[in-house]
Amino acid sequence: MNIATTVDTSAAEGQAFRLEFRAWLEANIPHEWRPAGFWHMMDDQGAIALRREWERKKYDAGWAGIDFPVEYGGRGGTPLQRAIYEEEMALANAPETANPQIPIIGPSLLLFGEEWQKKRFIKPLLRSDELWCQGFSEPNAGSDLASLRTKAELQGDHFVINGQKIWTSFAPICDWMFLLARTTSTGKKHQGLTLFLIDMKTPGIDARFIKHMTGRLDFAEVFLDDVKVPAENVLGGVDQGWKVINGLLREERVARIGQYAFYRRHLELLVRFAKQAKRNGRPAAEDPVLRQKLGQVCVDMELLRIHSLETMAAIANGAGQDQDAPLTKYSYGETHQDMGEVFTDLAGAMWHLHEGDPTQGDVDQGLLRELQFIFMRTRAETISGGTAQIQRNIIGERVLGLPRA
Ligand SMILES: Cc1cc2nc3c(=O)[nH]c(=O)nc-3n(C[C@H](O)[C@H](O)[C@H](O)COP(=O)(O)OP(=O)(O)OC[C@H]3O[C@@H](n4cnc5c(N)ncnc54)[C@H](O)[C@@H]3O)c2cc1C
Repeated sequence: MNIATTVDTSAAEGQAFRLEFRAWLEANIPHEWRPAGFWHMMDDQGAIALRREWERKKYDAGWAGIDFPVEYGGRGGTPLQRAIYEEEMALANAPETANPQIPIIGPSLLLFGEEWQKKRFIKPLLRSDELWCQGFSEPNAGSDLASLRTKAELQGDHFVINGQKIWTSFAPICDWMFLLARTTSTGKKHQGLTLFLIDMKTPGIDARFIKHMTGRLDFAEVFLDDVKVPAENVLGGVDQGWKVINGLLREERVARIGQYAFYRRHLELLVRFAKQAKRNGRPAAEDPVLRQKLGQVCVDMELLRIHSLETMAAIANGAGQDQDAPLTKYSYGETHQDMGEVFTDLAGAMWHLHEGDPTQGDVDQGLLRELQFIFMRTRAETISGGTAQIQRNIIGERVLGLPRA
């Protein structure tokens, strides 16, 4: 690994930006939001409303869309500034975004959108005035996305869309969806797909939450029955959907240093928990086996950090992300899940109960609730955005050039 090609987020050129943003966060994140578990003790609706309000305030103060062009409502900053922004957000335990599709739909609009689409959609996206969801997966099309069956037929100046989507995160509370549908049925199956920008208030859309094992309302199923979409709402051209989503799914898979910073915070919470929980009457942190497992996670985390800095350097230098994307997606998901396994070891057999395992002694309930949520959620990280098995296939075939079985 060539460390000389990593981005140095502690470099002097980023210091003024870092200190200014840190001071803004310190002055603007209310103290009651800061203890572990704050967001996890609150109901979903209340949490979303609060986070949305926060995103608007942050945007209005100039702290959103860091590397988006100023002409479309961004801050016009550099990749280094974006990395610092993400690090500081994690370090300050700032609220998670209410609009998780920003890093995916935003660059897609920039790369493939028509001028009016960029002007119309990017600013409300960055300010979370409009929340977006991603309508790709279907009951029989996930890893093999090109098998999708939702159909869009051109009728005059609009398309009529019929079909079903599933696992569509946050669909019932979103204002817009970018949806992949079949527009041509002849030829290879990955040809003839088109991306649409769809107003969720359009008649014929029925979005229903599916409850997560975390207890949260998160992903959903979406039924589309004769949904009329203006032809101008195609993103990137009719039958060009595959090309567009290949670019944007790569973006989804390239974790930035900010994700590392979030994981680092989770590791710190885990260590705090290890000092509170008991193992054979002593703090679990003193158990040699558990210490070794925590140590291994620390080593894996360091590898993620260096990999992320290298990836950012490659992006900043305009190099392709093809090799990094599957490696990043795979290693982040696996490392976070390994961390989750250590939590379940630490927290005892009844770790998943709301109040925790009584044999573990007194633990901070907010901390426990946050760790329960984080690590239940990790189970999804080797599925969403492309499964671990699929990433291994891509690494084997396209990165290492191994023969297909
Ligand atoms: C938390 C969460 C949020 C999500 N959010 C969204 C969203 O917002 N929008 C959206 O469109 N989708 C979303 N998804 C769906 C996600 O993209 C799919 O679940 C994922 O692509 C896998 O598809 P699948 O569930 O149909 O599984 P399948 O593709 O049916 O796979 C089942 C199993 O078979 C394995 N498998 C399949 N093909 C191969 C192969 N060729 N080689 C080896 N193994 C293989 C898979 O790895 C997996 O273990 C979300 C999923 C989760 C868990």
